[in-house]
Amino acid sequence: MVQFKNVFTGQESRNYQRAVTSQKSLRAGGKHNDLENVGYTARHHTFFEMLGNFSFGDYFKEEAIYHAWNLLTKEFAIAKEKLYVTIYHTDEEAATYWKKIANLSDDRIIKIKTTDNFWSMGDTGPCGPCSEIFYDHGEQVKGGLPGTKDQDGDRFIEIWNMVFMQFEQLDSDNRIELPKKSIDTGMGLERISAVMQNVYNNYETDLFKEIIAYTENIVKVKVEGEAKFSYRVIADHLRACAFLISDGIMPSNEGRGYVLRRIMRRSMRHAHILGSSEPLMYKLLPKLVDLMGTTYPELRRAEDFASNILEQEEIRFKATLERGLKLLDDETNHLSKNSELSGEIVFKLYDTYGFPVDLTEDILKAKQISIDLDGFNNKMQEQKERARKSWLGSNESKTDKMWFDIKAEFGSTEFLGYYLNEAEGKIL
Ligand code: ATP
Ligand code: MG
Ligand code: MG
Ligand code: MG
Repeated sequence: MVQFKNVFTGQESRNYQRAVTSQKSLRAGGKHNDLENVGYTARHHTFFEMLGNFSFGDYFKEEAIYHAWNLLTKEFAIAKEKLYVTIYHTDEEAATYWKKIANLSDDRIIKIKTTDNFWSMGDTGPCGPCSEIFYDHGEQVKGGLPGTKDQDGDRFIEIWNMVFMQFEQLDSDNRIELPKKSIDTGMGLERISAVMQNVYNNYETDLFKEIIAYTENIVKVKVEGEAKFSYRVIADHLRACAFLISDGIMPSNEGRGYVLRRIMRRSMRHAHILGSSEPLMYKLLPKLVDLMGTTYPELRRAEDFASNILEQEEIRFKATLERGLKLLDDETNHLSKNSELSGEIVFKLYDTYGFPVDLTEDILKAKQISIDLDGFNNKMQEQKERARKSWLGSNESKTDKMWFDIKAEFGSTEFLGYYLNEAEGKIL
């Protein structure tokens, strides 16, 4: 909903009051980070497509509930007995509409007190209660109803979140009603696909099955047992990497580029688990482009470029992956469950072998060993300090000083464009 933020606050207006969207979403860093869930739950991806409907001061709670219910139970013909909803515990209005429109009994309208059911942009700004719709995949799947201690299982899966944007938080004590109440909803395409295709696991839908089968054909390890998880992670990460690159992001050691690099390296580790000795990810790209390139032409446009990046990045990391894994093994073999790996080793893996911290964490999860994050951060700080000191004495810093000196003596100059020769008007 980022593109609509200012429309909700009234700072910006559009010539429409309703919108529907299908958005590329990535949750692999920052406030929403599902990277560590991928492969472990049936419902989380790093990259997914989020469907939404929006109202900017137009329809509100009653109509939003009506439309959601109508779409799920009439258009999609999902059995009512399979659906549960949550509301914010004080939102009596939402409860009333759910009863009136969907005729849901009280035990199917679950009141939640946490911020899971109260959306806000930050400490101030527009905010409001949410109502979420859950699908019951049946008792053969482990997991409890939302609000219970087993809620993280995959039996009751959240398919749709509706935010009723009705307040504005002015400061910590003051909240007012918004003059124009709005709606912002999000439904995961992969989750609703699973429901519609009668599978509980997103990775068993047509969106993923073909990629996994294609990978199996190359890797030649059966998709079963532990290998299944690696195939899922690879399929998920392939989508994330390809979409990030096609949107102009390059692997690097900072910011968005590092989010991409972390995802890439995780997938490479899983390729390694499957015994793939050659770079793998770039070989899977044509299949993805085949499947999604018509809907997302940017994927097709970037194919050659992305293929190159994926291959180069994999070649580069392969050189240290095995040695890093060996070091990690040696360092943890003597450690017992629930112990901690020292920050120094985690730093060495990061600095010398190119292991992002979350990759190390992920590898150790299976052994139930955690990492000393504070120790790692201290080492990182020390390294930055060393780098700063050596920069001060370097040629680079002397060159920079020279430019500053020139500027001090002659003042700023105006950039006139890339003319090789102004008389001839040749442009470089
Ligand atoms: P969950 O509790 O399952 O992690 P969420 O509450 O974090 O989901 P929202 O932020 O409410 O999810 O996002 C709106 C919708 O987007 C969800 O109802 C779900 O259908 C979908 N969704 C959210 N995160 C993911 C993800 N990592 N992968 C696939 N779909 C997702
Ligand atoms: Mg979540
Ligand atoms: Mg949730
Ligand atoms: Mg939610």
